[in-house]
Amino acid sequence: MTPELAYQHLCEHYRETAYLREAQKLWFWDQRTMLAPKGQAHRAKQLAALARFIHARDTDPRVGEWLAQVEGSDLVADPRGPAAVNVREWRRRYEQSVRIPPELAHALAQAAAEGQTAWEQARARNDWPAFRPFLERIVSLKREQAAALGYDTEPYDALLDLYEPGERAAALAPLFEELEAALRGLLPRVNPDFRGGDGPLRGSFPRERQEVLVREAAAAIGYDFAAGRLDTTAHPFSIHLGVGDVRITTRYDENFLGSALFAALHEAGHALYSQGLPPEHWGTPRGEAVSLGIHESQSRLWENLVGRSREFWRFFLPRVRSLFPELGEVKPEEVYATVNQVRPSLIRVEADEMTYNLHIIFRFHLERELINGGVAVGDLPEAWNEAVRRSLDLEVPDDARGVLQDVHWSGGHFGYFPTYTLGNLYAAQLFFRAAAELGDLPAAVAQGDFQPLLAFLRQKIHALGSTLWPRDLVREVTGEDLSPRPFLRYLEEKFTQGV
Ligand code: ZN
Repeated sequence: MTPELAYQHLCEHYRETAYLREAQKLWFWDQRTMLAPKGQAHRAKQLAALARFIHARDTDPRVGEWLAQVEGSDLVADPRGPAAVNVREWRRRYEQSVRIPPELAHALAQAAAEGQTAWEQARARNDWPAFRPFLERIVSLKREQAAALGYDTEPYDALLDLYEPGERAAALAPLFEELEAALRGLLPRVNPDFRGGDGPLRGSFPRERQEVLVREAAAAIGYDFAAGRLDTTAHPFSIHLGVGDVRITTRYDENFLGSALFAALHEAGHALYSQGLPPEHWGTPRGEAVSLGIHESQSRLWENLVGRSREFWRFFLPRVRSLFPELGEVKPEEVYATVNQVRPSLIRVEADEMTYNLHIIFRFHLERELINGGVAVGDLPEAWNEAVRRSLDLEVPDDARGVLQDVHWSGGHFGYFPTYTLGNLYAAQLFFRAAAELGDLPAAVAQGDFQPLLAFLRQKIHALGSTLWPRDLVREVTGEDLSPRPFLRYLEEKFTQGV
C-alpha cells in the first residue's frame, strides 16, 4: 500500500469516527438540556453502546498498519503540514487506546459511572465514608491506567498528558510554587475597593430579560448564533457538535445579575475557539482544539480579561441599564468593583480571579500524590483540610464544602485540574501579546469593538488546530515560554489600585 492510500484510509476512518463522536455529544447535550427524567436510564445505555463502537474503531489494528505506512514517508516530511500533524496525533491516540486492555477500559468506565452517582449522593448528604470505597476503586484503576499508558518519571504524567499534551508534573510544580507564593503575597495588598461586596448586582432580575442580556453579550464578543444556540443547564458548558454547530449553556440566578452573564461569556469564549477551527480540516487533529489548557485560556480571556475589565463595563453598562432600569444610576466603576470581589472562599467554582489558582494548586498536589502513591484515599479529607488551612487560611466546616465539592475525581478525571490554571496563565500571556500587536486594545473594548482581538485569536490560535502543542503554540505566538509572570502582572495592576 502506498503512503498516499494509507493516509486516505486514515482520513476516512477518523472522519467516520468523528461523526459517531458528534452523535455521542448530541445525545449528551440532549441528556443535559432536554431529556425527560424517564428517558435517562435508557440514554445511559445508548451512550455506553456508542462508546463501545467508538472504542472498537479507535483500536482497529488497521489503524496501526496504515500509520506505519505513512510514518517516515515524504507525506509527513513537513512537520507542520496537515498530514504530519494528523499522523503525529493519531499515533498518540492510537497508542493511548491500544495500551489499555479492554477489561481495564470497561472497569474504568463502570467505576466512573458508579463513582459519579455515589459522589452526587455523598455530597448531598455530606457523607465522605459512603464515597470513599468508590474513590479507592477509581484511584486504583487510574494507577493501572497510568502504568499501562507508560511514563518517563512519574505515573501522574501519563494521565496529565491525556488532557495537556507534552505537559509534565515536574515542570508544572516550580511554576505553581512561584505563582502560589506571589498570590499569597498579593492578597493582603488588594485594594479595599475590591472588598466591598456585590450589592449593586443583587436584586430581582427576571430571567427573560437576563437571557436577552446574555445573548447580546455573547453576540457582541463574536459568538455566532447562526452556528449555535444558547440553552439552560445546572452546570454550564459549551459543546462542539460539528461544523456550524457549537452550542453553549448557562444558568440563571434571578437574584444576581452576574451569574448567567459571566458563565455565558466563559462558555462563549470556549465556543469562539470551536467556531474558529478550520472547517476544511474537520474530523482530523489539524482541525481540532489542541488541549484543555488552551481551551480554558480562550474562555478565561473573554470571561475575565475582557468581561471583568473596566472598559467592558463602560461599553456594556448602558445596555444593561436599559434592560434593567431598576439598577438606577449605578456607574461602570461600581460594577467593575462588584464583579471583581476578592475573598478567599471554600468553593472553587465561586472563587475570584486571585484565589482561584490557590484552589487548583493544592488539588494538583493532592491528586499527584494520590496517583503516585504518596497519599492514601483514606487520608484525603484531612490532607484537603490542611491544604485549605495552609493556602487559603480557612477552616473547612464539612466534607461537602471540602473534599467532596468537585465532580472530577468521581469521574476518574485525574490530571484535569492543572489545565484550569494553565488556562489562566496562557490567557494573560496571549492577551498581553494581542495588546502589544493591536495597539489600544482597552479603547477598542470600551467601544464594544472586539473584532481585532477575536481576529488575533482566530489567526494565531484557532486556525492552527492541533498543529503545535500548548507550550510550543504559546511560545510561537508570544515569543515567551509559559510563565506565571504576565498573569501576576495583570493581577497586580488590576487589584492593587483603586477603581
Ligand atoms: Zn471552561
